[in-house]
Amino acid sequence: MDGNRLRDEIVASLRQEIEAASQAAVCLATVLVGNDKPSQIYVRNKHRKAQEAGMVSRHVELAQNATQTEVQSAVRELADDDSVHGILVQLPLPAGVDVEAVLDLIPPEKDVDGLTERSMGRLLRGRVGHVPCTPLGVMELLNRYGIETSGRRAVVIGRSTLVGLPQVLLLGRKGCDATVTLAHSRTKDLAALCRKADIIIAAAGMAGLVTADFVSPQATVVDVGISRTAAGIVGDVDFDSVQEVAGAITPMPGGTGPMTIGCLLKNTLAAARMLGAFPR
Ligand code: NAD
Repeated sequence: MDGNRLRDEIVASLRQEIEAASQAAVCLATVLVGNDKPSQIYVRNKHRKAQEAGMVSRHVELAQNATQTEVQSAVRELADDDSVHGILVQLPLPAGVDVEAVLDLIPPEKDVDGLTERSMGRLLRGRVGHVPCTPLGVMELLNRYGIETSGRRAVVIGRSTLVGLPQVLLLGRKGCDATVTLAHSRTKDLAALCRKADIIIAAAGMAGLVTADFVSPQATVVDVGISRTAAGIVGDVDFDSVQEVAGAITPMPGGTGPMTIGCLLKNTLAAARMLGAFPR
């Protein structure tokens, strides 16, 4: 399942929509604190793709030793600015900065990463709001590749609020209708559990965790994990062995990563609509 191709399709269709409604400048703002190299690359890619989608993007960068007050006032300024529709605070923030206090300042309409308490609450309550981009990107991949989810057994490996937990909600909610098991670091005999699944979503951050013996013939395997090794970026899935067994599989890189960006941009256009800054 090719995430790059789908991301390009999403970007092209957003561009068409934005160009067709010529009056609207849809704006994504990012906040980056510190000098974490991967975060710098992620943010740069988000801006590049936002511009390709015909959006305006704004970037606020703060030093590694920025104070809580400085980070909060940067976010507050974007929250109060009517020309900004989506706000993304790139995580992780440096140690010592209280993440929750920062995220709490993002209004739910502008929370295009879907990670704040209020967005999570909306997801749980089934109300309109933004859904975290990575699990949303996984749903989009499954959907666009025609993977049946209704009544199917899914295992999600990992229980973070960023990926695993919202993934479980999305797979299990009405309309998707999978029967979902949440696996984590204390799960016993993960391989046996996964072998019973029609769909495996691996989001543990452990290189090569999912091997061919985890996968039943024709199952769908989606790799979210990212580990940086001497050999480059690898996922949680041992791609070479698993692809021999799986019916569908995402590569790493080139699978879920680009879909995360595609969904971030979709959320940003949705944010502009929610704020009444873009025609419905
Ligand atoms: P996290 O560290 O917060 O959570 C990892 C989860 O995996 C934990 O719940 C833990 O219980 C579980 N886990 C760890 N080892 C395990 C094991 N051996 N067996 C079963 N479960 C195990 O990480 P996160 O923020 O959820 O991210 C997970 C991975 O996804 C990371 O590698 C991260 O870099 C990657 N990621 C990718 C994208 C993307 O766009 N593809 C986006 C966000 C995060």
